[in-house]
Amino acid sequence: MRFIWLFASLVVLASAATIKDTGKLRFDNHSVYKLKISNKLQLAIVNKLCSLSEKYDIWKDYEEYSKEVHVMVNPAELNRFQILLKLAGISNEVLIPNVQKLIDDEQVPSGRDSSTFGWTRYYELDEIEAWLDSIFAAYPSVTEEFTVGQSYEGRRIRGIKISHGTNKRGIFIESNIHAREWITSASATYFINELLTSQDTEVRNLAESYDWYIVPVFNVDGFEYSHTKNRMWRKTRQPHATNSCIGVDGNRNFDSHWLENNGASSNPCSETFAGDVAFSEPEAKALSEYLISIQDKFDVYLSFHSYGQWLLSPYGHSAEELPENYDDLQEIGTAFVDAIQNMVYGTTYVRGSTATTLYVASGSSVDWVFNELDKKVAYTIEYRDTGRYGFVLPPAQIKPNCEELMTGMIALIKKTNELGYIV
Ligand SMILES: [Zn+2]
Repeated sequence: MRFIWLFASLVVLASAATIKDTGKLRFDNHSVYKLKISNKLQLAIVNKLCSLSEKYDIWKDYEEYSKEVHVMVNPAELNRFQILLKLAGISNEVLIPNVQKLIDDEQVPSGRDSSTFGWTRYYELDEIEAWLDSIFAAYPSVTEEFTVGQSYEGRRIRGIKISHGTNKRGIFIESNIHAREWITSASATYFINELLTSQDTEVRNLAESYDWYIVPVFNVDGFEYSHTKNRMWRKTRQPHATNSCIGVDGNRNFDSHWLENNGASSNPCSETFAGDVAFSEPEAKALSEYLISIQDKFDVYLSFHSYGQWLLSPYGHSAEELPENYDDLQEIGTAFVDAIQNMVYGTTYVRGSTATTLYVASGSSVDWVFNELDKKVAYTIEYRDTGRYGFVLPPAQIKPNCEELMTGMIALIKKTNELGYIV
């Protein structure tokens, strides 16, 4: 009975955070909790609670590996939340006491850059695009612009192809499909820059042996919104026909096992809303069409995400089955994980299939490319960290994260090549 009363009282809501004059949503005293789940009842209670109220924002869904849920809680809700945790016997820990403090700190660059664009702070969409323009201007013989398509709000989704000659096999990178995962576009731009400027033999080899297709900011509308209005925005920005909640989880909107096995939500207010139909989002639809148009040109597909330090392979849609080439995917994954582990930072990544290692996630871009385009090397990379800062990774960690990506990528592509997947 007490649970029912608590749930009922949660349905009556105010907005999730307060807006002050800057027009940006503030997250003063919003805290992020790590919940250790020890049985199914506890999980059901947490899931129900988070689905009922805008005062909760799931940062990390439950996964079997750590048996943790990370959730951001509105301070107005904190009392009731703590009572509920006590009643349900859920052990917990505060990961972040005040999210706004991290957001404020995130605006402070970690150092000075000699050029106007560096990796000491996070950039807005127009700054990233201006940088991209400067790259096209500086390297006209090896770079080429491509357009994936148009976003719901009419922005162009831009990509860069880096090519050092004809007849090379392609590697496709899609980044920042989830708007709040800012480290992903920072990593993608760093990677582009290294491919073009690094003198390191292994990086030169990586750059010049393949054609690179890189989309640094895929969810352009959401990314812009995460900078100007709501730092914690994840989804696209297309309104729903009948519900006031906006946007779809772009990475649950692809037409491969769409909305199967509870790997996404049919609730428009959920952060993992799959859309009313597959490819309801113009961004996802455009990317699928673009990928089909170049499908004979690339062999490897990578999708950049944060956070958690995972390298995830298909399947996402089912934990009951594994792909035929799973052993190879694991071997490639081991190369990536070991290379990063051996660096000075000692950062630990875990590799495995999305559904068996993390949780069932259906309708993802990686699964679509793997299943529908038959590209047998496809991964989701979940960058730093494991929850201390979550989505608000401090600028001082941008470069280390990018260095890890470069080292991991060299190992990943080398092993992929060895196993004969790049043809
Ligand atoms: Zn993501």
